[in-house]
Amino acid sequence: MAELAGVVAEIAAEMAARVERGQVASYIPELSKVDPRHFGIAVVTMDGQSVEAGDADAAFSIQSISKVFTLTLALGARGDALWRRVGREPSGNPFNSIVQLEREHGIPRNPFINPGAIVVTDAILAGHAPREAIGSILRFIQFLADDDSIYIDQAVAKSERETGFRNFALANYMKSFGNLDHPPELTLGVYFHHCAIAMSCRQLASAGRFLANGGRHPATGRSVVSSERARRINAMMLMCGHYDGSGDFAFRVGLPGKSGVGGGILAIVPGKASIAVWAPGLNANGNSLLGSLALEKLARAMEWSIFGR
Ligand code: GLU
Repeated sequence: MAELAGVVAEIAAEMAARVERGQVASYIPELSKVDPRHFGIAVVTMDGQSVEAGDADAAFSIQSISKVFTLTLALGARGDALWRRVGREPSGNPFNSIVQLEREHGIPRNPFINPGAIVVTDAILAGHAPREAIGSILRFIQFLADDDSIYIDQAVAKSERETGFRNFALANYMKSFGNLDHPPELTLGVYFHHCAIAMSCRQLASAGRFLANGGRHPATGRSVVSSERARRINAMMLMCGHYDGSGDFAFRVGLPGKSGVGGGILAIVPGKASIAVWAPGLNANGNSLLGSLALEKLARAMEWSIFGR
């Protein structure tokens, strides 16, 4: 097996030199301002190594990667009853598709496509004011990453709210089926804010450690979730973490991963490592083009695929 620091440095150099970098998301106007030349990577291993390269300390919009943390919180609050409101199957459709929702009576396929994540956010909101729910999500992520400086980019949240007509349609549609407990504007207010959390690769890799560590927070040894729940969240990431590109990511990389339209990806090597990459240009499925490629190279070099060497 190759040496981690050398592999990471080599991948970062190769990604920096690539000409084809994909398209930066433009449907959220604030995200279209990001320079596609960025590339960052951070790897935290369970045996205590921490390796970074490129723009590993630059904050970016984590977008849908926040859905891993909101799912964890909602399962903690609601337990398995959450699965009555959202499924556990890959969708095979774009992340913001509405057609499947009609056929399936307002129950989204999984918690990582937009309607599923909106339902999860609605579950977190129960019994709280939106401001409190946003605060609890942010504090949870800060705790996981051991870093209180993680913040919400208010300009991104505002930009999403102003242009989120599709998400409003999804939320209203689910409301009509009785699968949303709060007014759509309140649930979406929380949703837009957690999508607008800004983190660096170093912070994100730290926040993902509990999923590589059987549900335990490595810094404190405290249990964040049971090992069974950590396993299941990893399973969801593998099956559903890359929208309708999830099969391709599993085929090429072989790791549980969650991407966001800000160009970040969190990938978990169970028992071994938590990895964050960021390259803002996306492929046709809305997943980071160079981020996916970098993870493919890293998993191959380190023999980290969960499917064996
Ligand atoms: N906030 C984004 C949206 O709702 C998240 C999309 C994503 O990263 O998949 O459209």
